[in-house]
This record gives sequence, structure tokens and C-alpha cells, in this order.
Amino acid sequence: MGRNLLILGPPGAGKGTQAEVLCRALGIPHVSTGAMLREHVDGGTELGMLAKEVMDSGELVSDEIVVAMVADRLSRDDAACGWLLDGFPRNPAQAAALDEILGEGIVDTVVVVDAPEEEIVARMLARGRSDDTGEATRTRLAVYREQTAPLMDLYEERGIVRIVDGVGQIPEVLCRIVQVLAE
Ligand code: ADP
Repeated sequence: MGRNLLILGPPGAGKGTQAEVLCRALGIPHVSTGAMLREHVDGGTELGMLAKEVMDSGELVSDEIVVAMVADRLSRDDAACGWLLDGFPRNPAQAAALDEILGEGIVDTVVVVDAPEEEIVARMLARGRSDDTGEATRTRLAVYREQTAPLMDLYEERGIVRIVDGVGQIPEVLCRIVQVLAE
């Protein structure tokens, strides 16, 4: 049976890294809205040009853009047997859109990768991406706290949240995720 997974957690918690390894192991596509948006920015597409400034500020790109991107990606053949969504949904409107596109019961597990704020700020500053500057980092954390973290309640109500400690070496954290997915 395929798996439909969400990975959630503060920026800089290492979701992307974990998601990539996990998806390779499970043979499902890693659908990262951040990575898709960065491809547009690097490719100089119209969407990329629109998104770049917003991303560099740490705010969210419009729901309309990301929802369309995700809907398109999940309709491809390779997503028929499962997928892992990374970086989406990021606010209640996106979560509602996901339910609408796919139906409410479609996500089987929400993996929350948790890490304390000092740790994630240090990691983001060390990474040096164009949206990893001090100011953008603060904005992204605030956006996470205000808009994304509340989604956990929604998924908690559905009984599908599994919280994993994101502090440790990459293989250690991966092992914790594999464990909760096997439960
Ligand atoms: P991180 O995992 O470090 O938070 P991402 O790669 O997921 O970073 O996202 C980088 C940026 O891309 C976000 O700060 C935001 O501007 C934009 N972005 C990514 N996903 C979404 C989304 N679902 N909705 C709106 N903007 C998004």
C-alpha cells in the first residue's frame, strides 16, 4: 500500500534532508514546495520572478500559486502510489485546499520534526541560503509559529500526528522517523 505523508516542523529543523532520504527509501516522490519554488527562481520563470522577493523576505508565497503547484504535482503518474509533502500545507487555507483536492482522509501520517529555536536559528544561519539572513529567518519563524504550527491541532484531531525529536545526527533522526512510521 502506498503512503501519503506530510512532514511538518519549524524552518531549519532538517525536514528537507530527512524527507529526501525517506522518499528514496520508500520509493515515493518528495514534493517540496520550497524546492519547486527555488527551481522556478533559478530557472528565471515568471513565477520565479514573482516568488523570489517574497521568499527572500521570509513571508509566504500566495496560496493560489502554491496550491496550483501542488495539485499539478500530485496529479502526475509517479504520485499515484504515495507521496511526501514537505513545506505544504503552511497555513489553514492551504490545509483546507489539500482536503478539497484529495479528500480529508488521504494523509495517513503527519511527521512533526521538532527542534528548539536556538538550534534551528543556528542551523539556518550556517546554511547560508538567500532567505537565511537574520531578518528573513526571524520572519520565517514568526510565520511558522503563527500560521503553520496551528495546523498540528487539525491533524491531532484526526489522530495522525507523530512527533519526532529533530536534534541529533541525520541518521539518528531518520531512525526515529522510520520508527514512528512503522507504528
Ligand atoms: P524551510 O524548510 O527552511 O522553511 P522551504 O524550502 O520549505 O524552507 O521554503 C522556503 C520559502 O519558500 C518559504 O519561506 C516561503 O517563502 C516559500 N514557500 C515554500 N512553501 C510554501 C507554501 N506552502 N506556501 C507559501 N510559501 C511557501
